[in-house]
Amino acid sequence: MEQDIKHRLLKEYFGHSAFREGQEDIIDYIMSGRDALCIMPTGAGKSVCYQIPALAADGVTIVISPLISLMNDQVTGLIQSGVKAAYLNSSLTSGQYMRALDNIRSGKYKIIYVAPERLMTESFLAVCEDIDISVVAVDEAHCVSQWGQDFRPSYLKIPDFIDKLEPRPVVAAFTATATSDVKDDILRILRLHDPFQITTGFDRPNLFFSVMKPKNKSGELLDLLAGRRESSGIIYCSTRKKVEEVCELLKANGYAATRYHAGLSETERRQNQEDFVYDRSTVMVATNAFGMGIDKSNVSYVIHYNMPKNIESYYQEAGRAGRDGEEAECILLYSPQDVRINKFMIDNSEPNPELDTQQQAAVRELDYKRLKYMTIYCTTNDCLRGFILKYFGEKQKSYCGKCSSCLTRYETKDATIEAQKIISCIIRAGQRYGRKMIIDILRGSKNDRLTSAGLDRLSTYGIMSDSSENSIRSIIACLEENGYIVSTEGEYPVLKILPASSDILKGKTKFEIKIPKERSGKEKKPDKKESSGGFSAALYEKLRALRGQLADQAHVPAYVIFSNATLEDMCRRMPTTDEEFLRVSGVGRKKLEFYGSKFMDVIRQNIPENK
Ligand code: ADP
Ligand code: ZN
Repeated sequence: MEQDIKHRLLKEYFGHSAFREGQEDIIDYIMSGRDALCIMPTGAGKSVCYQIPALAADGVTIVISPLISLMNDQVTGLIQSGVKAAYLNSSLTSGQYMRALDNIRSGKYKIIYVAPERLMTESFLAVCEDIDISVVAVDEAHCVSQWGQDFRPSYLKIPDFIDKLEPRPVVAAFTATATSDVKDDILRILRLHDPFQITTGFDRPNLFFSVMKPKNKSGELLDLLAGRRESSGIIYCSTRKKVEEVCELLKANGYAATRYHAGLSETERRQNQEDFVYDRSTVMVATNAFGMGIDKSNVSYVIHYNMPKNIESYYQEAGRAGRDGEEAECILLYSPQDVRINKFMIDNSEPNPELDTQQQAAVRELDYKRLKYMTIYCTTNDCLRGFILKYFGEKQKSYCGKCSSCLTRYETKDATIEAQKIISCIIRAGQRYGRKMIIDILRGSKNDRLTSAGLDRLSTYGIMSDSSENSIRSIIACLEENGYIVSTEGEYPVLKILPASSDILKGKTKFEIKIPKERSGKEKKPDKKESSGGFSAALYEKLRALRGQLADQAHVPAYVIFSNATLEDMCRRMPTTDEEFLRVSGVGRKKLEFYGSKFMDVIRQNIPENK
């Protein structure tokens, strides 16, 4: 069957036999000469959307990317796949930089990754005049927006750079951030010309989401990791101190753990990141400084030791699991204290100097609002996947069957009386207090702030003294989620009642809550390799060892050679000819050439006698 060029390139260079959602359209539009703005979640496969047009075009494609590690990884991967690519950033010595420029001039590369700071330099502009540039791809395009958390002033130079190019190339922008403010900024600042716009589905079906509320986080963490010794994972903590603590804990328990945060030297950060990427360390304990641009595809779990500041960050960080399409888990260990830490961080964050006071206040307001949604995610009993997708504006079924909410069996309990008590307490206290104080009043606490304000004289004082703080907290969360009460935004949020609550007070509406039937406790996952049938685990281990050797020789991470998913498919298909080998998912022509015979040798030696 005659194949079109883009399918041919996809198989030949990247080893994939079908496009994922959105990829084909994006590639078609870019190849037809139209600008594009593509919003796709982390791990959805943005890179091939500009790499394939780059391979098909006559000229060169410039990719602007914010992070050195990202560029270096991408270029290593491309070269392994047989694509002629290079990067220009501050990790090159000036000699290497000049040589790279010469090579660009002589047409040696199809794809060039450039740091935004380099764009407007004289030497680079001079080279750009001499070559034919077909496409400028802007990766992580949300970095142009001051509304986002990754704002990079150097991204503002991109439109000036594009203006200097004659003729104007196609401009394609890519991001995983979907909020409309950011999207508008990208369109406006990058001056995209009538772009094709696409937002692909945000769902990542291979990810399992769960929220746990352990009394003892470190104990829970060790339990979680016990079943995952062999797999690679990331643990995010909210502070440097926590990173140190958790990393020590894991090391003391025999894990090959490493750490990453902004307080470490540049050299150590680079070393630790490399140890993780090259599988010398299986667990990375890090703050959110770690990750943008980490394209390690075999991360099989991401655990958040603390709640992140918003759903955008959470989904991006959690989304670093399972990029290879394998089943992976995203677990969040929540405690109410996480909310306080995050508020503290919002209140003490460095103000963005590009914004005036009013804009800064607006950003803070937005930060509080985002934090609120994040908190609801942690306390809801509804489908977690559904919650995230709804947040990003996607319609969802109320049951995904693949998150901790969907898998917990709940019983419905009538909590009308409790709800009435809580609502009256909020009213009696004048709708002037936050959640903690309301809980304290209801439970009859004797704390100073409460008694000195005379709140112990309210008729609702102590009327829930038999309930635990947590159970009152979860009813409040549920009232909030269902629009009966609201917690104001800002530094000191205050609980206020909404009109609907009068129906509960008057007994017109029954208020029901879902409570978990049994704690889902320690469901350790069996090690994947043992449980997945269909192929020999022994062969898999041999191929994995071979991959490790080859990766060492080539000084590249193992997943750059073949992903775990590719090794599994190899074990299932047991190819012994070039043609069969090419059919393995993730094998392109270059990889066949480089590695085919070595892997097929091992496979041949392991064909069972009777086959
Ligand atoms: P993003 O930049 O959107 O986070 P990447 O471009 O890094 O994602 O791709 C994520 C993973 O998906 C990579 O391991 C890539 O090889 C894989 N991938 C991309 N497109 C396809 C496809 N059409 N079929 C199978 N795997 C794909
Ligand atoms: Zn679900």
